[in-house]
Amino acid sequence: MPLSDRILLGPGPSNPYPEVAQAFARPLLGHLDPEFLALLDDTCERLRRVFRTSNELTLPISGTGSAGMEAAFVNVVAPGDTVVVGVNGVFGERMCDVAARCGAEVVRVDAPWGRPLDPGAVLAAHPSPKVIAVVHAETSTGVRTDIEELGRGKGDALLLVDTVTSLGGIPVEVDAWGIDIAYSATQKCLGVPPGLAPLTVSERARERFVERSQSWYLDLRLISDYVSADAGRRYHHTAPTAMVAALHAGLGHVLDEGLEQAWARHAACGEALQAGFEKLGFRLLAADGHRLPQLTSVGLPEGVDEAVVRGALLDDFGIEVGGGLGAWAGTSWRIGCMGHGARRRNVTLLLAAVGELLGR
Ligand code: PLP
Repeated sequence: MPLSDRILLGPGPSNPYPEVAQAFARPLLGHLDPEFLALLDDTCERLRRVFRTSNELTLPISGTGSAGMEAAFVNVVAPGDTVVVGVNGVFGERMCDVAARCGAEVVRVDAPWGRPLDPGAVLAAHPSPKVIAVVHAETSTGVRTDIEELGRGKGDALLLVDTVTSLGGIPVEVDAWGIDIAYSATQKCLGVPPGLAPLTVSERARERFVERSQSWYLDLRLISDYVSADAGRRYHHTAPTAMVAALHAGLGHVLDEGLEQAWARHAACGEALQAGFEKLGFRLLAADGHRLPQLTSVGLPEGVDEAVVRGALLDDFGIEVGGGLGAWAGTSWRIGCMGHGARRRNVTLLLAAVGELLGR
């Protein structure tokens, strides 16, 4: 089966939107070409619309989602600062690691895998943290944590939210929810290949930037010079121009479709997929009411070798799904229905293929 037939239904990357493939076919632009700078400005504007924010400092960081995570922390955390981190999966763990490397006193608030974080417990963990950090959509478990209560109760703290798997797939309201720093990644619900990390920072957070970030590459004081024509673009950065063009096209697709319509499409696919997997005898592992439509974690029926069936899905049908992580490795799958992959026909194909392989 040709690789062009692959259907990417793992935890990311998703299949790109058609406009994105066309963007890669355009002539390459230099990073200081006025045409490119105009495209970059428009990409930042499109990101503001998708993040639902008026934050001036909104841009794609050159790097994957983890670069967005590091950029978020290194610019506001100095050694000795208290950072409360909610942990209910792999990416909350990674936040603890990144914060600790910045020298933070990390206060962890854990929730069991498959459960959302308890916003009350996160807010009660410390009387005056500098930062409260949580993952909105935990890709390791398929769980959504509610952000609004954290924004209302954050007090003096900065609210830092990972929206890698949520942006473009479920509502993300940076301004309305009181989020100070949010980062994402291109490869999930934005339907663009991996390589950029959209990031947005409130004025309140900018005022509290550390004097000298511990990373040169991710120093937002420097980078903001590059993305802002008003700041004179003095900072030299060879931006990945083809990727920015691809992101511009992917965001264009999402905005042309309409954010609400994109959320509804993801919701409908997730619902159909989850109902179908239950019928096939799989267990849904994420707590009811907090299940992500774009990332479903399922426990396999008794006696089924997950790696064998997952391999057959790829070899026989060209469909990729992801294996479980951590404690769930070997007994579960993570199925993505994201970006251009979130289509009814993909759900139907996957369910039919799994049914055939299991003889059900
Ligand atoms: N945060 C979440 C929730 C993720 O799902 C991922 C990747 O899957 C990351 C952060 C890290 O992103 P990347 O792998 O693009 O560096």
